[in-house]
Amino acid sequence: MTESIKITAIINIMITNTLETLRPKKLSDYIGQENIVKTLKLFIDAVRKRGKPSEHILFYGPPGIGKTTLAYIVANELKGEIKVTSGATITKTGDLAAILTNLKDNDVLFIDEIHRLPKPVEEMLYPVMEEYSLDIIIGKGPSARTVRLSVPRITIIGATTKLALLSAPLRDRFGLLLRIDYYHNKDIEKIILRSSKILNLPITKEAISQISLRSRKTPRLANRILRRARDILEVDRHTVIDEKLVDKLFSLLEIDANGLTKIDRDYLEVLGKKFSNLPVGVETIASALSEDVRTVEEFIEPYLLRLGFIKKSSRGRSLTPKALSTIKSPSSLPSLFS
Ligand code: ADP
Repeated sequence: MTESIKITAIINIMITNTLETLRPKKLSDYIGQENIVKTLKLFIDAVRKRGKPSEHILFYGPPGIGKTTLAYIVANELKGEIKVTSGATITKTGDLAAILTNLKDNDVLFIDEIHRLPKPVEEMLYPVMEEYSLDIIIGKGPSARTVRLSVPRITIIGATTKLALLSAPLRDRFGLLLRIDYYHNKDIEKIILRSSKILNLPITKEAISQISLRSRKTPRLANRILRRARDILEVDRHTVIDEKLVDKLFSLLEIDANGLTKIDRDYLEVLGKKFSNLPVGVETIASALSEDVRTVEEFIEPYLLRLGFIKKSSRGRSLTPKALSTIKSPSSLPSLFS
């Protein structure tokens, strides 16, 4: 291994470790989402009592909200190991068969973005979920036959950002469906405080509150902003992450007081300025932003809708009065409609 490859490998391990250490490992460390935590605790206690394999679990909700974290926690609480994969990477039935043969009783198979599983793979999963058996087709054409193999008694945990895209037969095979929602600001503040303690970062209450307000109620974003604040703390040799430091960070990252990033503001500007706030179709907005429609629909619009900044109708998207008044307020970063 050359020196530079070695250094890159070490840096990668360090980044992975930081991400892993920030992930709560026990249900009692999971902040917020009280109802989800209560339901899972009851579910896990019941599984332990029965001494039988757990039913399969499906988590759904926006990205960065804690679905993967909960899968790790469930595996940990059930004393099994977790194998993490994604609907997009299992492209053939053989991929799923290979993963299953490497698991053992009590393990958890976490399938992220499970709605992206190809149909044949999804169908192969049904008997696995129901009877812990795997149907493999041997041969081709008229001589093809199905061989049934047994697989370990595993728990499948699925996660999706798009419940509607999951087929009904797959959805119905999960014994527990849990929707994880955005966090309250006070819980995001607790997550930032917890992460700053783990990362050994001195931080003021005001800075925590500012980061929380701009994290879009999402733990992953809160942790990401905190890590960027650490960069400034270390490079500029500050002693503490305070309001001044985070102000500097937010203008560098171009995140405004509403948690809007540059692309969000560009979107609002396209609607308000370029199209004089007349309803505009998503394809037109996407081409005006030089983005693809999926990025606009999946990454930009959900937060703007949640803020009540845009409305969708059959004629297109337009800005709400709330957006117009907020955008013109002094707390918003310059450029918008100026
Ligand atoms: P998802 O799978 O929904 O995209 P993750 O589980 O990967 O989200 O969460 C993103 C990051 O946010 C994790 O690394 C974890 O550190 C943090 N996180 C998520 N939920 C919580 C929580 N409830 N308490 C503390 N940290 C959390």
